[in-house]
Amino acid sequence: MTYITRFAPSPTGPLHLGHAYSAILAHDMARAAQGRFLLRIEDIDQTRARPEWEAQILDDLTWLGLTWDDTPLRQSDRLPRYADALDRLWDAGLLYPCSCRRRDIAAAASAPQEGAPLHGPDGIIYPGTCRDAPRRGPRPADEALRLDMRKAAQALVTYHELSDVTHPTLSPDEMVTTIGDIVLSRRDFLGSYHLSVVLDDADQEITHVIRGADLAEATPIHVLLQRLLGLPTPRYHHHRLIRDEAGKRLAKRDDARAIATYRAAGDTPADIRRRVGL
Ligand code: GLU
Repeated sequence: MTYITRFAPSPTGPLHLGHAYSAILAHDMARAAQGRFLLRIEDIDQTRARPEWEAQILDDLTWLGLTWDDTPLRQSDRLPRYADALDRLWDAGLLYPCSCRRRDIAAAASAPQEGAPLHGPDGIIYPGTCRDAPRRGPRPADEALRLDMRKAAQALVTYHELSDVTHPTLSPDEMVTTIGDIVLSRRDFLGSYHLSVVLDDADQEITHVIRGADLAEATPIHVLLQRLLGLPTPRYHHHRLIRDEAGKRLAKRDDARAIATYRAAGDTPADIRRRVGL
């Protein structure tokens, strides 16, 4: 089996040291295994993605000496694929439309009888306000759609028993209490990070997902979606995060740690490798 990894930047800001570390690891591991290293532009959120950032990211990766196989996959080209998967989940009765706004969710989740709101990978665990919304007819195209985790997690029962240790798993009950009904299609754009990432990883035939530890808690969601959609589960490796001197995780807006800034200051690609501890 060919070893296939990927780097999947969102073009919503500059490539910084943390991204560079992720990209270099995935690239070097694929090359060491005589495998393939693929790129994917995660531009599904067109309200935030910018072509200038994409161009800068590709330029920085090239400058770092990374080479990729195939033309990069672009999420904004794949909306029909995402719509099709949503239709399948909708037809299986696993999705429901949700009209809650962020503030409604915060208010409902912190109502006195609910206690303090619990947080999952996507923020406050949805309190279930819209769970009884009608699920008949064609999939509504202009509303947010949530996964009914109580129903979906049942699909994990068999899976949980069969699972091996190559990826983290949660029991169905833990999926309900620690993740809850996550959004799989947004009101402002079709699909969601979780949905597109599993379809893209499957279609790019990724065998090894190498990404930051900040995404580790999303992995049980991805494994569940693979299960529901009949997709293979790759191996997951979550690497350490690159932090600033104060120990804070680097963020997109952290321009000071942008590769472009180091380049402008005269760093070489070898300096960047050293900076991230490689
Ligand atoms: N697009 C995501 C990011 O830039 C990475 C997603 C992933 O590796 O699964 O953080």
